Amino acid sequence: MKKFYTNQSQINKQLNEQLNEQQLEEGKPIKEEKLIKDEHTREIFEQVFDKATLNTVYEIARKKYFEEIEFVISTGKEGNVFRCKSGNGHYAMKIYKIETSNFKHMMEYIEGDRRFKSVRKDKQEIVKAWTKKEYKNLEELTKIKVKAPLPITFSRNCLLMEFIGENGNAAPRAKEKPFTDMNKAYETICEYLAKMINAKLIHSDLSEYNILNNNEELVIIDVGQMVTTEHPKAKEFYVRDIRNLSKWFSKNGVKTNYEKMYEHVKEKTKKPKKEKK
Ligand code: ADP
Ligand code: MN
Repeated sequence: MKKFYTNQSQINKQLNEQLNEQQLEEGKPIKEEKLIKDEHTREIFEQVFDKATLNTVYEIARKKYFEEIEFVISTGKEGNVFRCKSGNGHYAMKIYKIETSNFKHMMEYIEGDRRFKSVRKDKQEIVKAWTKKEYKNLEELTKIKVKAPLPITFSRNCLLMEFIGENGNAAPRAKEKPFTDMNKAYETICEYLAKMINAKLIHSDLSEYNILNNNEELVIIDVGQMVTTEHPKAKEFYVRDIRNLSKWFSKNGVKTNYEKMYEHVKEKTKKPKKEKK
């Protein structure tokens, strides 16, 4: 059976129940071995992250959001994603690396965003802003019913979110596992793009690499760089997204190209809200 929460209040309710059950043990350190049982995972963790990041992870654990970091789902230049065990299932935790993140790249997406006007220009502050931005962006997508991981909590450079996958296995990327019905997936992504445009949001890195195929359900991920349409480069980012997507869908049998996809999404943005289907 598919299991995902449909809204944030459900998650909050569930977390509150958890919190009431087990009183917050404020200040009591959680032993490293307890939090990361798997040796290989612990090694990666210690090699990659600084003390402050470790403390942040412990802080989130102390608040009972999760009890164990089980293993690495993905290692990237800018951060790693881990599967965490939580009372009733799993969460995914994305942790940005402070040292190796690409700040010039990050600044390009933060500077034009009015939501992040007052961000100081040092590494730590930028990564923190980026993490918060990704959390907020996940919230925005959830609000407009575009399927993306539900945001759970964030702190400093750590973002906890819904785990996308089945039976504990992380869903493959669309790149590795294209959809069985590509035409249906195409309609879905066009609808999502239209909803995002209507909400003034541009993903800005949308491609088969940032779409998960969760048992044929299309899930959009990696939204740190998502900007609002007021960003000076919003149009450029949007054109790039449509270009990448149309190329991939066309390669996988959908009769489309850049112009067609652009128009198709545009049509969908005009649909009156009341009309069903
Ligand atoms: P980046 O591309 O910056 O490294 P992503 O957000 O794309 O970061 O995440 C990297 C990989 O981690 C994804 O391709 C996906 O395989 C996995 N992943 C990310 N978020 C989740 C999630 N919520 N549930 C399951 N797997 C995830
Ligand atoms: Mn990605």
